[in-house]
Amino acid sequence: MTAPARTPRGSAELIRAEEPVLAHNYHPLPVVVARAEGAWVEDVEGRRYLDMLAGYSALNFGHRHPALIEAAHRQLDRLTLTSRAFHNDRLAGFAEKLAALTGTDMVLPMNTGAEAVESGIKVARKWAYDVKGVPADRATIVVAADNFHGRTTTIVGFSTDETARQGFGPFAPGFRIVPYNDLAAMEAAVDETTAAVLIEPIQGEAGVLIPDDGYLAGVRELTRRRGCLFVADEIQSGLGRTGHTLAVEHESVVPDVVLLGKALGGGIVPVSAVVGRRDVLGVLHPGEHGSTFGGNPLAAAVGTAVVELLETGAFQRRAAELGTVLREGLAALTGKGVVGFRARGLWAGVDVDPALGTGREVSERLMREGVLVKDTHGSTIRLAPPLTVTAEELTGALGTLEKVLTS
Ligand SMILES: *Cc1c(COP(=O)(O)O)cnc(C)c1O
Repeated sequence: MTAPARTPRGSAELIRAEEPVLAHNYHPLPVVVARAEGAWVEDVEGRRYLDMLAGYSALNFGHRHPALIEAAHRQLDRLTLTSRAFHNDRLAGFAEKLAALTGTDMVLPMNTGAEAVESGIKVARKWAYDVKGVPADRATIVVAADNFHGRTTTIVGFSTDETARQGFGPFAPGFRIVPYNDLAAMEAAVDETTAAVLIEPIQGEAGVLIPDDGYLAGVRELTRRRGCLFVADEIQSGLGRTGHTLAVEHESVVPDVVLLGKALGGGIVPVSAVVGRRDVLGVLHPGEHGSTFGGNPLAAAVGTAVVELLETGAFQRRAAELGTVLREGLAALTGKGVVGFRARGLWAGVDVDPALGTGREVSERLMREGVLVKDTHGSTIRLAPPLTVTAEELTGALGTLEKVLTS
């Protein structure tokens, strides 16, 4: 007996079907994506959209990059998971390549970004007790206002976004919040209990806020002089997005610990990592920290292929070159509905005239014109296309933005 043929459900019906069964922790744009390739996605009805968000940088190499898909397929046919109870034949190569790419010694593989942040916090605290000599349970970590580091209870505990915090306490102590881009405030917050300063080199969720020149170098100098670690959250800013492998390279800064995620998984599987020097990551001993999926062979195979794409520097150069196209295009729109923007590499926060609508409304209009973006707070939209986008596609998207803002 054959099952009765089911008519495939359309976008509107699929969106309605989510409502009763899916937790309402997101408010997606009303587009239902069914397939994608490169910088383009296609919805259930076959309409095509240029993806100018790229999974918040998780899709830096575009959708289904052939080298990444091939690496995943090959690994799926051999071995997918061992747990760290055993070694697997892909992990050493991944760790060696990632350490070399980021110019450091050691790698702690995890899965999601929030886990990398949590792991970075644990490493910094352990270092404070074992190496710096902070009395037990007294370690502090200095963070910046308007940060975004993920969604665990510890992490939202030091967020300044009330929507992210409200209703989720009590929170873990030991964090001091200072204004971003303010070295004097950071200096005042650091004391003999400070394990680390944890910041984003560019604050993505806050609207792609780029600190003044000299801030990152200042954080490096301050943390070195005051004897605490500099932990850089490069989960969104890293791996080519800003025109360098790491955003801290704009100021030739080398943090003690770097947190990576998003693009490290090639848009295929969640892969994150804490990378740093041996005298820091070396504080962890067997049993003190772990993850069932961290460093699994499928993740390691995809992560290795991601690092191989970045090793040549071609994507970083592309992001820098196309970043010029993006900046010039946005400068030309200033006064035509754009009231301000911040851009570095292929990453921009664009403030639209609030009289023309909220960021959400502008995003919905862009969606109807075939361009997918994401709003952040108020009337700001964020642009972060795959690094594989072409100059023509980019100027096309800017043309669509102009149309949406001026019609
Ligand atoms: C996305 C993000 C995280 C959290 O990553 P998840 O994979 O969503 O847990 C942490 N820090 C920054 C800067 C991010 O952009």
